[in-house]
Amino acid sequence: MSDPRKGPFHLTNTLTRKKEEFVPLRPPHVGLYVCGPTVYSDVHLGNVRSFLTFDVLYRWLTHLGYKVRYVRNITDVGHLVGDIDEGEDKIAKRARLEQLEPMEIVQKYTNGFHDVMRLFNILPPSIEPTATGHLIEQIGMVERIVKSGYGYEANGSVYFDVPKYAEKYAYGELSGRKIDELITNTRDTEGQDEKRSPLDFAIWKKAEPQHLMKWPSPWGEGFPGWHLECSAMSTKYLGGTFDIHGGGMDLKFPHHECEIAQSVAADGVAPVRYWMHGNMLTVNGRKMAKSEGNGFTPEELLTGNHKLLDKGYSAMTVRFFMLQCHYASTLDFSNAAMQAAEKGLERLMAALATLGKLKPGAGNGADIDALAKRCYAAMNDDLNTPVMIAELFEGVRIINSVNDGKMSLSGPGLEQLREIFQSMVFTVLGLKAEQQTTTADDAAMSGLVQEFIRMRAEAKARKDFAASDGIRDRLVALGIILKDTKEGTTWERA
Ligand SMILES: [Zn+2]
Repeated sequence: MSDPRKGPFHLTNTLTRKKEEFVPLRPPHVGLYVCGPTVYSDVHLGNVRSFLTFDVLYRWLTHLGYKVRYVRNITDVGHLVGDIDEGEDKIAKRARLEQLEPMEIVQKYTNGFHDVMRLFNILPPSIEPTATGHLIEQIGMVERIVKSGYGYEANGSVYFDVPKYAEKYAYGELSGRKIDELITNTRDTEGQDEKRSPLDFAIWKKAEPQHLMKWPSPWGEGFPGWHLECSAMSTKYLGGTFDIHGGGMDLKFPHHECEIAQSVAADGVAPVRYWMHGNMLTVNGRKMAKSEGNGFTPEELLTGNHKLLDKGYSAMTVRFFMLQCHYASTLDFSNAAMQAAEKGLERLMAALATLGKLKPGAGNGADIDALAKRCYAAMNDDLNTPVMIAELFEGVRIINSVNDGKMSLSGPGLEQLREIFQSMVFTVLGLKAEQQTTTADDAAMSGLVQEFIRMRAEAKARKDFAASDGIRDRLVALGIILKDTKEGTTWERA
């Protein structure tokens, strides 16, 4: 990079389990692929943390001057309940329960996902491909795997031959699993008789007659295996081998391990140079999941309307809370930690407002250049946001000292401090000032929201629940929460 202050960027590569200097294949271009959501239900806060991790990576690489092509997919078919090879498709199941077309489910939850991403100021990717939009590429990949001898057809399905692959390649290298242990630990499941080994996984599945989502293929009507779409779409847009692949820790095995095997078997090259995995969000030490009853939706979080929440928290407070922890560590959610984050963010934003008003003085009371260098060093050290935020609070101390007249900064020093705060707080951490409005704004706002409440009531009256839910969700995305009470619908700001 041209600016020596920016220095080399290091990140922990899951594949080698080492912190490595990041050197892109084709600088200044960087190819980044991140596993996106399976769009069959509302996004919860644990999902938000994962996407936030890669948002910061995307922002940082861009800030360093790289031209990033960021691909994040939408899984809209092939992900079966229980993450296994047999059973119902998650989206088809939801469609049956909600009595909708599978594609209505896909649209509804894709919209919801985008609203939540916007709410938390998570930037959209450069390309957002869908699995159903890339059936041809996936079928092509299955054909190449069969042709190379690592896939076999059985009764209209095609399976990946893991033991055969493992004879030549290092299956388990990403997740650290050993093939012998995997064999001992694999339990028998339905459809096992079709597989040559219990370790084999489906790359194409035959569709039963009642199956809702199916496509013609050389093996009959069916649908792609869950791991296949990411292999097909990442290499289509980023090349046979690309720079960084990210995802949540829980995707390391089998999903990412299978992605490597598929690409190597189909095209003879390892797909990814740096694998990056974000850690989980826990609540009282337990993984956040809908099934645990601790998976807050963003709406519940903003209103405080959940038994585990003392009060509501703003989206930026949540973002700041998450950034105060390194992405590779588990982060435990608690009301005390959220309230501390809320106070911390207020102090940071207040200091930024003060910084705008400071006047240059005679002396240089603080070494701002060293502070800037430490901010860069922290981010270059595997995206160490907690250390960078601690450096910003050192900056807050300087700002307040200058404001109190205890210290003075020269014009250039002040300018540099403003520049570092602007870029680190807004561009890199992606925080934004939350709206403060005047009384006149409030009156206009109230009128607008009342208008939306009226439109939503009309939609409900004509039983157009897609429209009424849509209005509510879009208001949530704007930080407006509706509450249905006996007296009618009321609203409040998040
Ligand atoms: Zn994936």
